[in-house]
Amino acid sequence: FRIAMQNAMDEMKSSGKWAKSMEILKEFEDKCATPVSKLRQVADAMTVEMHAGLASDGGSKLKMLISYVDNLPTGDESGIFYALDLGGTNFRVLRVKLGDVNNVKKEFQEVSIPPNLMIGTCAELFDFIAGELAKFVATESGDMQIPPGTQRELGFTFSFPVKQSSIAGGTLVRWTKGFNIEDAVGQDIVEELVKAMERAGLDMRVSALVNDTVGTLAGGKYSNKDVIAAVILGTGTNAAYVERANAIPKWQGLLPKSGEMVINMEWGNFRSSHLPLTEYDESLDAESLNPGEQIFEKIISGMYLGEIVRRVLLKMAVEAEFFGDTVPTKLEKPFILRTPDMSAMHHDSTPDLKVVASKLKDILEIPTTSLKMRKIIVEVCHTVANRAARLSAAGILGILKKIGRDTVKEGDENQKSVIAMDGGLFEHYTKFRIAMQNAMDELLGEEASKNLIIELSNDGSGLGAALLAASHSQYATYDES
Ligand code: BGC
Ligand code: MG
Repeated sequence: FRIAMQNAMDEMKSSGKWAKSMEILKEFEDKCATPVSKLRQVADAMTVEMHAGLASDGGSKLKMLISYVDNLPTGDESGIFYALDLGGTNFRVLRVKLGDVNNVKKEFQEVSIPPNLMIGTCAELFDFIAGELAKFVATESGDMQIPPGTQRELGFTFSFPVKQSSIAGGTLVRWTKGFNIEDAVGQDIVEELVKAMERAGLDMRVSALVNDTVGTLAGGKYSNKDVIAAVILGTGTNAAYVERANAIPKWQGLLPKSGEMVINMEWGNFRSSHLPLTEYDESLDAESLNPGEQIFEKIISGMYLGEIVRRVLLKMAVEAEFFGDTVPTKLEKPFILRTPDMSAMHHDSTPDLKVVASKLKDILEIPTTSLKMRKIIVEVCHTVANRAARLSAAGILGILKKIGRDTVKEGDENQKSVIAMDGGLFEHYTKFRIAMQNAMDELLGEEASKNLIIELSNDGSGLGAALLAASHSQYATYDES
C-alpha cells in the first residue's frame, strides 16, 4: 500500500509539474502570437518611424542614417580593390578584381576576432585588423597585383551604427551585438583604422565606409537592377534601402544628381508597443550589454534566439522542475545555447528526436529526457523562431509601404522588387526562412508577393564595399552621374 501510495503521489506531483510546464509554455506562446493584424500594426509603426527618423536627427528610435551613397554600382567599375568586413564574430579581408560584371575575381581570408578584443580598447581592435590586412596584402600575386606607384584602396564594411560625415568617414554611434569598446564610441572609425594601418606600415586609402546593409545593397544592385533594399538577418539585423533624396527633410546637403540616397535604417533599434514582448525578452534586455537598445534585434536576430529559448527552459526548470528536482547548472549560463544549436533541435526529423537529446546532453549536460519533454523543447524553438521570422517580414512590409512597393500598380504589373538578403539566420535556419516567406505572402497577398523577390546575396557586402571604393576612388575617371 505504501508503495502504491508513493507512486500515486509521485504521479500527482509529476503531473502537477507537467501542468505547470505546459502553463509556462502556453503563456509564452500567447505572448509571442503574431497574427496578421498584429504584423500589420508593426509594419505601419515601422513606416511611421521611418518618416520620423528621416525628418530630423533624433526624431525616432530609427536612426535612418544617411550613407552618402547616392549612386549604386553601374557595372563600369574596374580595377583591383580591397575590402574589409567587420561586424560579427568573424572579420574578412578581400581583394577583388572588377571589370567584368559576370566574372569578378575574389580572394579573401576570414579571421575570427579574439573575444577579448570585442570588449577591449579601440587601438587594440584596430591594430589587430590592420595587422591581418597587412598580412593579406603581402599575398598579392599574379593578375591581382596593384601596379607599382598606385595607392591601394579599400572599402570598409563596418556593421554598426555610424553617423557618416562623408562617404569615407563617420563616427560610431554605439556598439551592438556583443561588442563594447567604450573609447571607440564617438570616434571617427576611418581615422582609427588609418592610424592603425600607419602603425602597421600599411599605405592604403579608405575610399568608402559602409554599413553591411549598404554594402549588400550595392553588391546586389551590381548584378540585379531591380534590387531596392538589403536586409541582414544574421548575428544582428538591419535594413537599408534607396530613398528619394527629396523625401529626407533632415538632409542639409545638395540634392544628389541621381535624386536618390541610400538610407541605413538601423532597424535593429526599432521598438513599438505593438511588438509582442515577453518577460524573457525583458530580462534578456535588462541583462544585456546595451539595455534598452536594439529591442527589435533582440527578438529577431541570431545572436539572441537561442538565448531566449534558454531563458524559457530555465523558467520551466526552476518553476516546474521540468528537468527534475535540480536545475541543470549549465542552463543558468547566458548564451550557452547558440542559435545554430537551437536550429539543429528545431529541424530534428528523427522520430525520437535524437538530435534534441544529444544537444541537451552535450551543451546543457542534461543526460536523459523523455520524448514528451523533447517535443516541448522543439515547441519552444518553434515559438521563438516563428515570432522572429514573422516580425522580420513585417519589417520588410514597412519598407515596401514607405516606398510604395507594397501593392501592384496599374501599368506596372510586372515591376519586381528585389531584396538582397544576407546573414546566417536567413541562410541556414530553413524553418525561419520558410516562416518568413510565408508571412510575406500572407501580408502582401498573392499578386504583390509574386513581384517581391528575396535574393540571398552571400557576402555581397564585401563586394559592395569594393565597388563603392572603386566608384569613389581617387583614380576614378568616369563621370559618376
Ligand atoms: C548593427 C547594424 C548592422 C546589423 C547587421 C546591427 O547590430 O547595428 O549596423 O547592419 O547589426 O550586421
Ligand atoms: Mg556580415
